[in-house]
Amino acid sequence: MKIIEVTAKTEYPLLIARESTTDYFYPCLDYMTGTAIRGAFAYIYLNRNNNNADEVFKKYFLNSAYVKWGGLYYQGSLPLPLTARTCKITPGFASSGHGVLDTLFHLISEEKSGRFDIIPDDCSCGAAYDRAPFEFFNQTNNGFAVALPKKRITSKVAIDRETESSRAGALYSYEMLNEGQTFAGNILVSDDIANELKIFISSVTAIRLGRGRTRGLGKVSVSFSAPAEYNSASANKYEDFNKKLYEFANTKGVKLDANKYFSILLLSDSVLEKSPKEYFQAVTSEYLKDNYGINCKLVAGESNKRIISGWDYQNNRPKDNALAITKGSVFAFEVQDENGVAEKLKKIEENGIGERREEGFGRISVCDPFHFHWEVRNA
Ligand SMILES: [Zn+2]
Repeated sequence: MKIIEVTAKTEYPLLIARESTTDYFYPCLDYMTGTAIRGAFAYIYLNRNNNNADEVFKKYFLNSAYVKWGGLYYQGSLPLPLTARTCKITPGFASSGHGVLDTLFHLISEEKSGRFDIIPDDCSCGAAYDRAPFEFFNQTNNGFAVALPKKRITSKVAIDRETESSRAGALYSYEMLNEGQTFAGNILVSDDIANELKIFISSVTAIRLGRGRTRGLGKVSVSFSAPAEYNSASANKYEDFNKKLYEFANTKGVKLDANKYFSILLLSDSVLEKSPKEYFQAVTSEYLKDNYGINCKLVAGESNKRIISGWDYQNNRPKDNALAITKGSVFAFEVQDENGVAEKLKKIEENGIGERREEGFGRISVCDPFHFHWEVRNA
């Protein structure tokens, strides 16, 4: 497999809608989804090809064995695990706030010991620890930094066509990502078509994404690296994770029964179908057993979900809504049969999990080293 790095810059404000709970405020996502990126390139391909969804089109856009498009995150940042905690009053890494710690090892230890005193309650300033008010972070030379793209809110008044005046109470607002900001991610592509895909995408310098494409919104300029060999992270992550977890448990006086553990962190939203139109709300041991033959038990985790929609290019109609477990969700498992687990996990990480991987869903990190930051650090 090859990896092509993608860099995108918002030339115009960008509104990729997040599901709204009201009809007067339309919030936007803080990133560009793989679905939107893939859709923009599919649109260009079809336009140039007389709307003919030929075999090449199917390889480029509909088959994750050939191409996995990916979401683009602000400045190439990573999603913050939902197990991260930060000061409620002065949130953020030490560069801008009172620091961030990860609580996955605390959660596993509490589950195994039945104790409830392992997760620290309060920051040293006295304020409570809480989930972070930001979704992404960057690794910097001297630690971590919050990655928060700039957004603004625009308000409009709906016009009543009959009276040609503004309708009472029809003020609505929508949120947009500001222009001039850089987002980055990648496309994973099979060796045999990496070069031809690169030629196609490089012939495109700008795409239109999101809402309001005819109203001066959503223009994004794009550039790409040459295809390079894709190396997923090493199998050592699994060993490192267990070493660090046991080190942590020791400091807390918790016994872990000498079993092995692993975690799955979602780097992008993931859709795990249970049966047609029925979805898993978490990565479960049942899912891992049925799909990968891993015998394990879910011991801890934190997750969120969201409803996603999409476009079915095969049949040219909207897709049924699906349930996605959102990026940043974390699940920890206790291994019950050690046989071949490290190799299986490496494969899962390489290939991703669940449905719609061609759209960028299902990217994961196994035993992510972020979980080793169980104490608030200075950096
Ligand atoms: Zn604090």
